[in-house]
Amino acid sequence: MARILITSALPYINGVKHLGNLAGSMLPADVYARFQRAQGHEVLYICATDEHGTPAELAAADEGLDVASYCEKYHCIQHDIGRGFGLSWDHFGRSSSPQNHRLTQHFAEALEANGLIEERVDQMVYSVDDRRFLPDRYVEGTCPHCGYEKARGDQCDNCGNLLDPTDLKDPYSVISGSRNIEVRDTRHLYLLQTKVEGEIRAWVDSHPDWPQLTKSIAYKHLDEGLIDRGITRDLSWGVPVVRNGAPRPGFEDKVFYVWFDAPIEYIAATHEWADASDGDWRRWWRLDAGADDVRYVEFMGKDNVAFHTVSFPATILGSKEPWKQVDTLKAFNWLNWYGGKFSTSQRRGVFMDAALEILPADDWRWYLTANAPEGSDTAFTWEQFAGAINKDLADVLGNFVNRIAKFCESKFDGVVPAGGEPGPLEQALYADIASGVAELAANLEAIEMRKAAQSVRALWVRGNEYLQEAAPWTAIKTDPERAAIIVRTGLNLAALFARVSAPFIPFAAEKIAEAFGETYPGPWPTTDAAAELGKLPAGRTIRAPDVLFKKIEDAQIAEWAERFGGAE
Ligand SMILES: [Zn+2]
Repeated sequence: MARILITSALPYINGVKHLGNLAGSMLPADVYARFQRAQGHEVLYICATDEHGTPAELAAADEGLDVASYCEKYHCIQHDIGRGFGLSWDHFGRSSSPQNHRLTQHFAEALEANGLIEERVDQMVYSVDDRRFLPDRYVEGTCPHCGYEKARGDQCDNCGNLLDPTDLKDPYSVISGSRNIEVRDTRHLYLLQTKVEGEIRAWVDSHPDWPQLTKSIAYKHLDEGLIDRGITRDLSWGVPVVRNGAPRPGFEDKVFYVWFDAPIEYIAATHEWADASDGDWRRWWRLDAGADDVRYVEFMGKDNVAFHTVSFPATILGSKEPWKQVDTLKAFNWLNWYGGKFSTSQRRGVFMDAALEILPADDWRWYLTANAPEGSDTAFTWEQFAGAINKDLADVLGNFVNRIAKFCESKFDGVVPAGGEPGPLEQALYADIASGVAELAANLEAIEMRKAAQSVRALWVRGNEYLQEAAPWTAIKTDPERAAIIVRTGLNLAALFARVSAPFIPFAAEKIAEAFGETYPGPWPTTDAAAELGKLPAGRTIRAPDVLFKKIEDAQIAEWAERFGGAE
Protein backbone atom coordinates (compact mmCIF):
# COMPACT_ATOMS: atom_id res chain seq x y z
CA MET A 1 0.00 0.00 0.00
CA ALA A 2 1.33 3.38 -1.00
CA ARG A 3 0.57 6.83 0.38
CA ILE A 4 -0.52 9.30 -2.24
CA LEU A 5 -1.00 13.01 -1.65
CA ILE A 6 -3.10 14.73 -4.32
CA THR A 7 -3.76 18.44 -4.73
CA SER A 8 -5.65 20.32 -7.42
CA ALA A 9 -5.00 23.98 -8.15
CA LEU A 10 -6.94 26.19 -5.76
CA PRO A 11 -10.00 27.79 -7.38
CA TYR A 12 -10.07 31.54 -6.83
CA ILE A 13 -12.86 32.79 -4.60
CA ASN A 14 -14.49 35.34 -6.91
CA GLY A 15 -17.65 33.51 -7.89
CA VAL A 16 -18.68 30.21 -9.42
CA LYS A 17 -16.09 28.54 -11.66
CA HIS A 18 -16.67 27.46 -15.25
CA LEU A 19 -16.30 23.97 -16.69
CA GLY A 20 -12.74 24.67 -17.83
CA ASN A 21 -11.65 25.06 -14.20
CA LEU A 22 -13.25 21.73 -13.41
CA ALA A 23 -11.82 19.91 -16.46
CA GLY A 24 -8.25 21.09 -16.00
CA SER A 25 -7.58 20.37 -12.34
CA MET A 26 -10.30 19.32 -9.89
CA LEU A 27 -12.01 16.62 -11.97
CA PRO A 28 -8.92 14.70 -13.14
CA ALA A 29 -7.55 14.91 -9.59
CA ASP A 30 -10.77 13.36 -8.34
CA VAL A 31 -10.75 10.57 -10.96
CA TYR A 32 -7.18 9.79 -9.98
CA ALA A 33 -7.94 9.91 -6.25
CA ARG A 34 -10.90 7.55 -6.59
CA PHE A 35 -8.82 5.12 -8.67
CA GLN A 36 -5.99 5.07 -6.15
CA ARG A 37 -8.36 4.58 -3.22
CA ALA A 38 -9.97 1.64 -5.04
CA GLN A 39 -6.48 0.18 -5.41
CA GLY A 40 -6.28 0.15 -1.63
CA HIS A 41 -3.76 2.98 -1.30
CA GLU A 42 -3.88 5.59 1.42
CA VAL A 43 -4.96 8.74 -0.40
CA LEU A 44 -5.26 12.32 0.80
CA TYR A 45 -6.91 14.62 -1.74
CA ILE A 46 -6.65 18.28 -0.74
CA CYS A 47 -8.09 21.41 -2.31
CA ALA A 48 -9.14 24.85 -1.04
CA THR A 49 -10.40 28.23 -2.11
CA ASP A 50 -7.76 30.86 -2.86
CA GLU A 51 -9.21 33.84 -1.03
CA HIS A 52 -6.78 36.73 -0.85
CA GLY A 53 -5.92 39.51 -3.28
CA THR A 54 -7.48 42.48 -4.98
CA PRO A 55 -10.02 40.60 -7.14
CA ALA A 56 -11.67 39.25 -3.98
CA GLU A 57 -11.92 42.78 -2.56
CA LEU A 58 -13.39 44.07 -5.82
CA ALA A 59 -15.89 41.20 -6.12
CA ALA A 60 -16.97 41.71 -2.51
CA ALA A 61 -17.52 45.42 -3.11
CA ASP A 62 -19.60 44.57 -6.19
CA GLU A 63 -21.89 42.43 -4.03
CA GLY A 64 -21.99 44.97 -1.22
CA LEU A 65 -20.32 42.59 1.22
CA ASP A 66 -17.23 42.95 3.36
CA VAL A 67 -14.51 40.77 1.95
CA ALA A 68 -14.52 38.24 4.82
CA SER A 69 -18.26 37.62 4.47
CA TYR A 70 -17.93 37.43 0.70
CA CYS A 71 -15.21 34.77 0.97
CA GLU A 72 -17.22 32.80 3.50
CA LYS A 73 -20.23 32.86 1.18
CA TYR A 74 -18.37 31.77 -1.95
CA HIS A 75 -16.29 29.19 -0.14
CA CYS A 76 -19.54 27.47 0.88
CA ILE A 77 -20.98 27.82 -2.63
CA GLN A 78 -17.87 26.40 -4.27
CA HIS A 79 -17.71 23.60 -1.71
CA ASP A 80 -21.32 22.57 -2.28
CA ILE A 81 -21.01 22.67 -6.06
CA GLY A 82 -17.83 20.61 -5.91
CA ARG A 83 -19.59 18.01 -3.79
CA GLY A 84 -22.44 18.10 -6.29
CA PHE A 85 -19.93 17.05 -8.94
CA GLY A 86 -18.78 14.23 -6.68
CA LEU A 87 -15.37 15.75 -5.97
CA SER A 88 -14.09 13.51 -3.18
CA TRP A 89 -11.81 15.96 -1.39
CA ASP A 90 -10.60 14.76 1.96
CA HIS A 91 -10.57 18.43 2.83
CA PHE A 92 -11.60 21.59 1.01
CA GLY A 93 -9.89 24.34 2.92
CA ARG A 94 -9.55 28.11 2.84
CA SER A 95 -6.37 30.07 2.21
CA SER A 96 -7.66 32.62 4.73
CA SER A 97 -7.47 30.03 7.53
CA PRO A 98 -5.44 30.72 10.70
CA GLN A 99 -3.32 27.70 9.76
CA ASN A 100 -2.33 29.34 6.48
CA HIS A 101 -1.66 32.67 8.17
CA ARG A 102 0.78 31.01 10.57
CA LEU A 103 2.46 28.87 7.92
CA THR A 104 2.85 31.75 5.46
CA GLN A 105 4.42 33.90 8.16
CA HIS A 106 6.65 30.98 9.09
CA PHE A 107 7.92 30.57 5.53
CA ALA A 108 8.64 34.28 5.23
CA GLU A 109 10.66 34.18 8.46
CA ALA A 110 12.57 31.08 7.34
CA LEU A 111 13.36 32.72 3.99
CA GLU A 112 14.52 35.90 5.72
CA ALA A 113 16.71 33.93 8.12
CA ASN A 114 18.36 32.39 5.06
CA GLY A 115 19.08 35.80 3.52
CA LEU A 116 16.45 35.47 0.82
CA ILE A 117 14.20 38.38 1.78
CA GLU A 118 15.02 42.03 1.24
CA GLU A 119 13.09 45.24 1.88
CA ARG A 120 12.93 47.46 -1.19
CA VAL A 121 11.22 50.76 -1.96
CA ASP A 122 8.61 50.83 -4.73
CA GLN A 123 6.52 53.66 -6.07
CA MET A 124 2.78 53.19 -5.90
CA VAL A 125 -0.31 55.26 -6.52
CA TYR A 126 -1.73 56.61 -3.24
CA SER A 127 -5.25 57.95 -2.75
CA VAL A 128 -5.18 60.75 -0.20
CA ASP A 129 -8.95 60.72 0.35
CA ASP A 130 -9.11 56.92 0.70
CA ARG A 131 -5.96 57.02 2.86
CA ARG A 132 -4.55 53.97 1.10
CA PHE A 133 -2.32 52.79 -1.72
CA LEU A 134 -4.27 51.66 -4.76
CA PRO A 135 -3.54 48.36 -6.46
CA ASP A 136 -3.35 48.61 -10.26
CA ARG A 137 -6.96 47.64 -10.73
CA TYR A 138 -8.14 50.26 -8.26
CA VAL A 139 -6.86 53.07 -10.46
CA GLU A 140 -8.67 54.10 -13.61
CA GLY A 141 -8.19 56.99 -15.98
CA THR A 142 -7.80 57.98 -19.60
CA CYS A 143 -5.75 55.66 -21.80
CA PRO A 144 -2.65 57.42 -23.18
CA HIS A 145 -2.89 55.30 -26.35
CA CYS A 146 -6.54 55.49 -27.40
CA GLY A 147 -8.16 58.05 -25.14
CA TYR A 148 -10.60 55.56 -23.60
CA GLU A 149 -11.74 57.17 -20.35
CA LYS A 150 -12.17 54.04 -18.21
CA ALA A 151 -8.80 52.35 -18.77
CA ARG A 152 -7.65 50.27 -15.77
CA GLY A 153 -4.30 50.75 -14.12
CA ASP A 154 -2.97 47.46 -15.49
CA GLN A 155 -4.59 47.41 -18.93
CA CYS A 156 -6.86 49.32 -21.27
CA ASP A 157 -9.94 47.22 -22.09
CA ASN A 158 -10.56 49.27 -25.21
CA CYS A 159 -7.22 49.01 -27.05
CA GLY A 160 -5.70 46.15 -25.04
CA ASN A 161 -2.43 47.94 -24.26
CA LEU A 162 -0.80 46.94 -20.96
CA LEU A 163 -0.42 49.95 -18.72
CA ASP A 164 1.26 51.11 -15.58
CA PRO A 165 -1.04 53.15 -13.29
CA THR A 166 1.31 56.12 -13.65
CA ASP A 167 0.68 56.10 -17.45
CA LEU A 168 -2.98 57.06 -17.03
CA LYS A 169 -4.15 60.62 -17.71
CA ASP A 170 -6.59 62.09 -15.16
CA PRO A 171 -6.32 59.06 -12.90
CA TYR A 172 -8.95 58.50 -10.21
CA SER A 173 -9.59 56.04 -7.40
CA VAL A 174 -12.08 53.28 -8.22
CA ILE A 175 -13.03 53.15 -4.54
CA SER A 176 -14.13 56.76 -4.03
CA GLY A 177 -13.80 58.33 -7.47
CA SER A 178 -11.40 60.83 -5.92
CA ARG A 179 -8.81 62.42 -8.23
CA ASN A 180 -6.74 63.49 -5.23
CA ILE A 181 -4.12 60.85 -5.85
CA GLU A 182 -0.34 60.90 -6.03
CA VAL A 183 2.65 58.61 -6.38
CA ARG A 184 4.33 57.74 -3.09
CA ASP A 185 7.18 55.54 -1.94
CA THR A 186 6.21 52.29 -0.24
CA ARG A 187 8.41 49.54 1.18
CA HIS A 188 7.89 45.92 0.20
CA LEU A 189 9.47 42.56 0.89
CA TYR A 190 11.19 40.94 -2.07
CA LEU A 191 11.91 37.24 -2.37
CA LEU A 192 15.38 36.92 -3.90
CA GLN A 193 14.54 34.20 -6.39
CA THR A 194 17.76 34.93 -8.29
CA LYS A 195 19.68 33.41 -5.37
CA VAL A 196 17.89 30.05 -5.56
CA GLU A 197 17.66 29.81 -9.36
CA GLY A 198 20.38 27.17 -9.57
CA GLU A 199 18.72 25.01 -6.93
CA ILE A 200 15.36 25.25 -8.68
CA ARG A 201 16.88 24.26 -12.03
CA ALA A 202 18.64 21.29 -10.44
CA TRP A 203 15.35 20.22 -8.88
CA VAL A 204 13.48 20.49 -12.20
CA ASP A 205 16.36 18.58 -13.88
CA SER A 206 15.80 15.78 -11.35
CA HIS A 207 12.31 15.17 -12.85
CA PRO A 208 12.93 14.03 -16.44
CA ASP A 209 9.75 11.94 -16.10
CA TRP A 210 7.45 15.00 -15.90
CA PRO A 211 4.97 15.44 -18.76
CA GLN A 212 6.27 17.45 -21.71
CA LEU A 213 3.85 20.34 -21.14
CA THR A 214 5.07 20.72 -17.54
CA LYS A 215 8.77 20.58 -18.41
CA SER A 216 8.54 22.97 -21.35
CA ILE A 217 6.85 25.65 -19.23
CA ALA A 218 9.28 25.21 -16.33
CA TYR A 219 12.37 25.51 -18.56
CA LYS A 220 10.92 28.45 -20.48
CA HIS A 221 10.74 30.42 -17.25
CA LEU A 222 14.13 29.26 -16.01
CA ASP A 223 15.76 30.05 -19.36
CA GLU A 224 14.27 33.55 -19.35
CA GLY A 225 15.91 34.04 -15.95
CA LEU A 226 14.15 34.53 -12.64
CA ILE A 227 13.66 37.98 -11.11
CA ASP A 228 13.37 38.95 -7.48
CA ARG A 229 9.70 39.16 -6.71
CA GLY A 230 7.69 41.45 -4.44
CA ILE A 231 5.78 39.25 -2.00
CA THR A 232 3.85 41.93 -0.11
CA ARG A 233 1.09 44.35 -1.13
CA ASP A 234 -0.56 47.45 0.28
CA LEU A 235 -3.84 45.79 1.19
CA SER A 236 -5.65 44.96 4.40
CA TRP A 237 -7.19 41.61 3.32
CA GLY A 238 -4.58 38.87 3.51
CA VAL A 239 -1.89 37.42 5.73
CA PRO A 240 -0.34 40.17 7.90
CA VAL A 241 3.40 40.71 7.69
CA VAL A 242 5.01 40.00 11.06
CA ARG A 243 8.43 39.81 12.64
CA ASN A 244 9.02 37.92 15.87
CA GLY A 245 5.30 37.49 16.33
CA ALA A 246 4.46 41.21 16.14
CA PRO A 247 3.49 43.41 13.18
CA ARG A 248 6.61 44.17 11.18
CA PRO A 249 7.50 47.85 11.60
CA GLY A 250 6.55 49.76 8.47
CA PHE A 251 4.36 46.90 7.27
CA GLU A 252 1.34 47.41 9.52
CA ASP A 253 -0.93 48.13 6.54
CA LYS A 254 0.49 45.45 4.26
CA VAL A 255 -0.15 41.79 3.69
CA PHE A 256 1.60 39.02 1.79
CA TYR A 257 0.86 38.89 -1.91
CA VAL A 258 -1.78 36.28 -2.72
CA TRP A 259 0.60 34.38 -4.96
CA PHE A 260 2.96 33.89 -2.04
CA ASP A 261 0.39 32.48 0.39
CA ALA A 262 -1.86 30.52 -2.00
CA PRO A 263 0.39 27.50 -2.70
CA ILE A 264 1.34 27.34 0.99
CA GLU A 265 -2.35 26.61 1.53
CA TYR A 266 -1.80 23.10 0.14
CA ILE A 267 0.13 22.42 3.32
CA ALA A 268 -2.09 24.57 5.53
CA ALA A 269 -5.26 22.91 4.21
CA THR A 270 -3.76 19.56 5.22
CA HIS A 271 -3.17 21.12 8.62
CA GLU A 272 -6.85 22.21 8.65
CA TRP A 273 -7.84 18.64 7.73
CA ALA A 274 -5.71 17.28 10.57
CA ASP A 275 -7.18 19.73 13.07
CA ALA A 276 -10.69 18.71 12.04
CA SER A 277 -10.09 14.96 11.96
CA ASP A 278 -7.35 14.09 14.46
CA GLY A 279 -5.09 13.44 11.48
CA ASP A 280 -1.35 14.04 11.31
CA TRP A 281 -0.49 16.60 8.64
CA ARG A 282 3.23 16.31 9.17
CA ARG A 283 3.44 12.73 7.96
CA TRP A 284 2.18 14.01 4.58
CA TRP A 285 4.42 17.05 4.29
CA ARG A 286 7.53 16.79 6.46
CA LEU A 287 10.32 14.49 5.36
CA ASP A 288 11.47 14.40 8.99
CA ALA A 289 8.01 13.16 10.08
CA GLY A 290 7.37 10.30 7.69
CA ALA A 291 6.55 12.02 4.40
CA ASP A 292 9.51 10.54 2.57
CA ASP A 293 7.38 7.62 1.36
CA VAL A 294 4.56 9.87 0.12
CA ARG A 295 4.00 10.22 -3.60
CA TYR A 296 2.79 13.77 -4.22
CA VAL A 297 0.79 14.49 -7.39
CA GLU A 298 -0.40 17.98 -8.38
CA PHE A 299 -3.11 18.77 -10.97
CA MET A 300 -3.45 22.18 -12.64
CA GLY A 301 -4.07 24.18 -15.80
CA LYS A 302 -1.04 25.26 -17.80
CA ASP A 303 -1.29 28.86 -16.55
CA ASN A 304 -0.36 27.61 -13.08
CA VAL A 305 2.68 25.55 -14.02
CA ALA A 306 5.26 28.32 -13.65
CA PHE A 307 4.07 29.07 -10.13
CA HIS A 308 4.33 25.41 -9.17
CA THR A 309 7.65 24.62 -10.86
CA VAL A 310 9.48 27.87 -10.07
CA SER A 311 7.79 30.26 -7.61
CA PHE A 312 6.50 27.84 -4.97
CA PRO A 313 9.69 25.74 -5.16
CA ALA A 314 11.63 28.97 -4.49
CA THR A 315 9.69 29.25 -1.22
CA ILE A 316 10.16 25.59 -0.34
CA LEU A 317 13.81 25.24 -1.34
CA GLY A 318 14.66 28.64 0.10
CA SER A 319 13.28 27.66 3.49
CA LYS A 320 15.98 24.95 3.70
CA GLU A 321 13.49 22.89 5.67
CA PRO A 322 12.60 19.27 4.89
CA TRP A 323 9.29 19.78 3.08
CA LYS A 324 7.76 17.21 0.77
CA GLN A 325 7.88 18.42 -2.84
CA VAL A 326 5.81 17.42 -5.81
CA ASP A 327 6.73 14.18 -7.57
CA THR A 328 4.32 14.32 -10.51
CA LEU A 329 2.87 17.50 -11.90
CA LYS A 330 0.02 16.93 -14.35
CA ALA A 331 -0.84 20.02 -16.38
CA PHE A 332 -3.77 20.57 -18.72
CA ASN A 333 -4.37 22.85 -21.66
CA TRP A 334 -7.52 24.96 -22.01
CA LEU A 335 -11.05 23.80 -22.41
CA ASN A 336 -12.55 26.41 -24.74
CA TRP A 337 -16.17 27.21 -25.41
CA TYR A 338 -16.60 26.57 -29.12
CA GLY A 339 -13.84 28.68 -30.73
CA GLY A 340 -13.35 31.11 -27.86
CA LYS A 341 -12.85 31.44 -24.15
CA PHE A 342 -15.39 31.04 -21.39
CA SER A 343 -16.50 34.49 -20.28
CA THR A 344 -18.50 35.49 -17.25
CA SER A 345 -19.18 39.02 -18.41
CA GLN A 346 -20.22 38.00 -21.92
CA ARG A 347 -22.28 35.05 -20.63
CA ARG A 348 -20.39 32.57 -22.75
CA GLY A 349 -20.14 29.00 -21.60
CA VAL A 350 -21.55 26.83 -18.84
CA PHE A 351 -20.54 27.50 -15.26
CA MET A 352 -20.49 24.78 -12.65
CA ASP A 353 -23.74 25.72 -10.92
CA ALA A 354 -25.74 25.92 -14.15
CA ALA A 355 -24.22 22.65 -15.37
CA LEU A 356 -25.66 20.80 -12.38
CA GLU A 357 -29.03 22.50 -12.82
CA ILE A 358 -29.53 21.05 -16.28
CA LEU A 359 -27.83 17.64 -16.20
CA PRO A 360 -26.47 15.02 -13.80
CA ALA A 361 -22.87 15.36 -12.67
CA ASP A 362 -21.86 12.10 -14.34
CA ASP A 363 -22.72 13.44 -17.80
CA TRP A 364 -20.28 16.30 -17.30
CA ARG A 365 -17.66 14.13 -15.63
CA TRP A 366 -17.73 11.66 -18.47
CA TYR A 367 -17.55 14.21 -21.28
CA LEU A 368 -14.85 16.31 -19.59
CA THR A 369 -12.68 13.28 -18.84
CA ALA A 370 -13.11 11.61 -22.23
CA ASN A 371 -12.30 14.97 -23.88
CA ALA A 372 -9.78 16.24 -21.34
CA PRO A 373 -7.60 19.03 -22.80
CA GLU A 374 -4.45 16.96 -22.48
CA GLY A 375 -2.50 17.12 -25.73
CA SER A 376 -3.85 20.48 -26.84
CA ASP A 377 -6.66 22.92 -26.16
CA THR A 378 -10.10 21.37 -26.60
CA ALA A 379 -13.32 23.04 -27.72
CA PHE A 380 -16.60 22.20 -26.04
CA THR A 381 -19.53 21.82 -28.40
CA TRP A 382 -23.04 20.71 -27.49
CA GLU A 383 -23.10 18.32 -30.45
CA GLN A 384 -19.99 16.50 -29.30
CA PHE A 385 -21.23 16.54 -25.74
CA ALA A 386 -24.58 15.00 -26.67
CA GLY A 387 -22.79 12.36 -28.73
CA ALA A 388 -20.66 11.31 -25.78
CA ILE A 389 -23.62 11.03 -23.44
CA ASN A 390 -26.03 9.37 -25.86
CA LYS A 391 -23.59 6.91 -27.36
CA ASP A 392 -21.10 6.06 -24.62
CA LEU A 393 -23.24 6.31 -21.52
CA ALA A 394 -26.79 5.59 -22.71
CA ASP A 395 -26.27 3.23 -25.65
CA VAL A 396 -23.20 1.34 -24.50
CA LEU A 397 -23.05 1.21 -20.69
CA GLY A 398 -26.65 2.00 -19.76
CA ASN A 399 -28.06 -0.34 -22.36
CA PHE A 400 -25.82 -3.22 -21.29
CA VAL A 401 -26.69 -2.96 -17.61
CA ASN A 402 -30.37 -2.53 -18.29
CA ARG A 403 -30.55 -5.38 -20.78
CA ILE A 404 -28.90 -8.03 -18.61
CA ALA A 405 -30.72 -6.97 -15.45
CA LYS A 406 -34.12 -6.88 -17.16
CA PHE A 407 -33.48 -10.28 -18.72
CA CYS A 408 -32.58 -11.73 -15.33
CA GLU A 409 -35.74 -10.23 -13.87
CA SER A 410 -37.98 -11.66 -16.56
CA LYS A 411 -36.41 -15.13 -16.90
CA PHE A 412 -34.81 -15.81 -13.52
CA ASP A 413 -37.09 -13.83 -11.17
CA GLY A 414 -34.27 -11.34 -10.57
CA VAL A 415 -32.08 -13.97 -8.91
CA VAL A 416 -28.48 -14.67 -9.95
CA PRO A 417 -28.82 -18.13 -11.50
CA ALA A 418 -26.72 -21.15 -10.53
CA GLY A 419 -25.56 -23.82 -12.96
CA GLY A 420 -23.72 -23.98 -16.25
CA GLU A 421 -20.00 -24.01 -16.89
CA PRO A 422 -17.95 -21.33 -18.70
CA GLY A 423 -17.39 -22.20 -22.35
CA PRO A 424 -15.18 -20.79 -25.12
CA LEU A 425 -17.08 -17.49 -25.26
CA GLU A 426 -16.54 -16.96 -21.53
CA GLN A 427 -12.86 -17.93 -21.76
CA ALA A 428 -12.33 -15.39 -24.54
CA LEU A 429 -14.20 -12.80 -22.47
CA TYR A 430 -11.99 -13.46 -19.41
CA ALA A 431 -8.87 -12.87 -21.47
CA ASP A 432 -10.19 -9.61 -22.91
CA ILE A 433 -11.48 -8.31 -19.59
CA ALA A 434 -8.18 -9.11 -17.87
CA SER A 435 -6.15 -7.24 -20.48
CA GLY A 436 -8.70 -4.43 -20.71
CA VAL A 437 -8.73 -3.81 -16.95
CA ALA A 438 -4.92 -3.88 -16.90
CA GLU A 439 -4.78 -1.34 -19.73
CA LEU A 440 -7.29 0.89 -17.95
CA ALA A 441 -5.28 0.75 -14.72
CA ALA A 442 -2.06 1.56 -16.58
CA ASN A 443 -3.66 4.61 -18.22
CA LEU A 444 -5.05 5.85 -14.91
CA GLU A 445 -1.71 5.25 -13.22
CA ALA A 446 -0.04 7.31 -15.95
CA ILE A 447 -2.75 10.00 -15.56
CA GLU A 448 -3.66 9.73 -19.24
CA MET A 449 -7.30 10.69 -18.82
CA ARG A 450 -8.48 10.47 -22.42
CA LYS A 451 -6.86 7.09 -22.90
CA ALA A 452 -8.30 5.88 -19.60
CA ALA A 453 -11.80 6.90 -20.72
CA GLN A 454 -11.27 5.02 -23.99
CA SER A 455 -10.16 1.95 -22.03
CA VAL A 456 -13.19 1.88 -19.78
CA ARG A 457 -15.47 2.43 -22.75
CA ALA A 458 -13.78 -0.49 -24.55
CA LEU A 459 -14.72 -2.70 -21.58
CA TRP A 460 -18.36 -1.63 -21.84
CA VAL A 461 -18.32 -2.35 -25.58
CA ARG A 462 -16.84 -5.78 -24.93
CA GLY A 463 -19.71 -6.52 -22.55
CA ASN A 464 -22.26 -5.75 -25.24
CA GLU A 465 -20.39 -7.90 -27.76
CA TYR A 466 -20.38 -10.80 -25.34
CA LEU A 467 -24.10 -10.55 -24.75
CA GLN A 468 -24.75 -10.32 -28.47
CA GLU A 469 -22.65 -13.40 -29.23
CA ALA A 470 -23.81 -15.47 -26.28
CA ALA A 471 -27.47 -14.57 -26.98
CA PRO A 472 -29.08 -15.70 -23.69
CA TRP A 473 -32.54 -14.99 -25.20
CA THR A 474 -31.91 -17.90 -27.62
CA ALA A 475 -30.19 -20.17 -25.11
CA ILE A 476 -33.05 -19.86 -22.62
CA LYS A 477 -35.32 -21.73 -25.07
CA THR A 478 -32.96 -24.65 -25.76
CA ASP A 479 -30.32 -24.88 -23.04
CA PRO A 480 -31.24 -23.44 -19.61
CA GLU A 481 -27.81 -24.32 -18.13
CA ARG A 482 -26.12 -22.36 -20.89
CA ALA A 483 -28.51 -19.45 -20.33
CA ALA A 484 -27.67 -19.51 -16.62
CA ILE A 485 -23.91 -19.14 -17.10
CA ILE A 486 -24.42 -16.37 -19.66
CA VAL A 487 -26.73 -14.41 -17.40
CA ARG A 488 -24.50 -14.94 -14.38
CA THR A 489 -21.51 -13.76 -16.39
CA GLY A 490 -23.43 -10.75 -17.70
CA LEU A 491 -24.56 -9.73 -14.22
CA ASN A 492 -20.99 -10.05 -12.99
CA LEU A 493 -19.80 -7.91 -15.87
CA ALA A 494 -22.24 -5.19 -14.86
CA ALA A 495 -21.02 -5.36 -11.26
CA LEU A 496 -17.42 -5.17 -12.49
CA PHE A 497 -18.29 -2.18 -14.66
CA ALA A 498 -19.56 -0.41 -11.54
CA ARG A 499 -16.16 -0.84 -9.93
CA VAL A 500 -13.99 0.22 -12.89
CA SER A 501 -16.33 3.06 -13.89
CA ALA A 502 -16.61 4.56 -10.39
CA PRO A 503 -13.66 6.97 -10.80
CA PHE A 504 -15.33 8.48 -13.88
CA ILE A 505 -19.07 8.32 -13.15
CA PRO A 506 -19.38 7.69 -9.40
CA PHE A 507 -23.11 8.36 -9.12
CA ALA A 508 -24.13 5.89 -11.83
CA ALA A 509 -21.58 3.39 -10.57
CA GLU A 510 -23.15 3.53 -7.14
CA LYS A 511 -26.63 2.93 -8.60
CA ILE A 512 -25.35 -0.10 -10.51
CA ALA A 513 -23.53 -1.49 -7.49
CA GLU A 514 -26.64 -1.12 -5.33
CA ALA A 515 -28.87 -2.76 -7.95
CA PHE A 516 -26.60 -5.80 -7.90
CA GLY A 517 -26.29 -5.94 -4.13
CA GLU A 518 -22.62 -4.92 -4.15
CA THR A 519 -20.81 -2.65 -1.72
CA TYR A 520 -19.80 0.72 -3.07
CA PRO A 521 -17.18 1.74 -3.86
CA GLY A 522 -15.88 -1.74 -4.49
CA PRO A 523 -12.22 -2.71 -4.69
CA TRP A 524 -10.39 -2.49 -8.02
CA PRO A 525 -10.62 -5.86 -9.88
CA THR A 526 -7.67 -8.23 -9.73
CA THR A 527 -6.13 -9.62 -12.91
CA ASP A 528 -7.98 -12.93 -12.38
CA ALA A 529 -10.95 -12.15 -14.62
CA ALA A 530 -12.50 -15.61 -14.24
CA ALA A 531 -12.68 -15.07 -10.49
CA GLU A 532 -13.84 -11.45 -10.84
CA LEU A 533 -16.67 -12.54 -13.16
CA GLY A 534 -17.75 -15.26 -10.77
CA LYS A 535 -18.07 -13.09 -7.67
CA LEU A 536 -21.82 -12.47 -7.54
CA PRO A 537 -23.16 -15.43 -5.57
CA ALA A 538 -25.88 -17.56 -7.16
CA GLY A 539 -29.15 -16.91 -5.36
CA ARG A 540 -28.58 -13.19 -4.76
CA THR A 541 -31.51 -11.00 -5.72
CA ILE A 542 -30.75 -8.20 -8.11
CA ARG A 543 -32.95 -5.59 -9.76
CA ALA A 544 -32.72 -3.46 -12.85
CA PRO A 545 -31.59 0.04 -11.80
CA ASP A 546 -33.74 3.05 -12.64
CA VAL A 547 -32.78 4.82 -15.84
CA LEU A 548 -29.03 5.32 -15.55
CA PHE A 549 -28.50 7.86 -18.33
CA LYS A 550 -31.11 9.96 -20.06
CA LYS A 551 -30.43 10.74 -23.68
CA ILE A 552 -29.99 14.34 -24.68
CA GLU A 553 -32.56 15.55 -27.21
CA ASP A 554 -32.01 17.99 -30.04
CA ALA A 555 -34.57 20.35 -28.50
CA GLN A 556 -32.51 20.53 -25.31
CA ILE A 557 -29.38 21.36 -27.27
CA ALA A 558 -31.21 24.17 -29.03
CA GLU A 559 -32.46 25.53 -25.70
CA TRP A 560 -29.01 25.40 -24.07
CA ALA A 561 -27.27 26.90 -27.09
CA GLU A 562 -29.65 29.83 -26.72
CA ARG A 563 -29.15 30.09 -22.95
CA PHE A 564 -25.37 29.67 -22.76
CA GLY A 565 -24.22 31.00 -26.12
CA GLY A 566 -22.61 28.83 -28.73
CA ALA A 567 -21.01 29.08 -32.11
CA GLU A 568 -20.81 32.69 -33.18
ZN1 LIG B 1 -6.55 52.29 -24.76
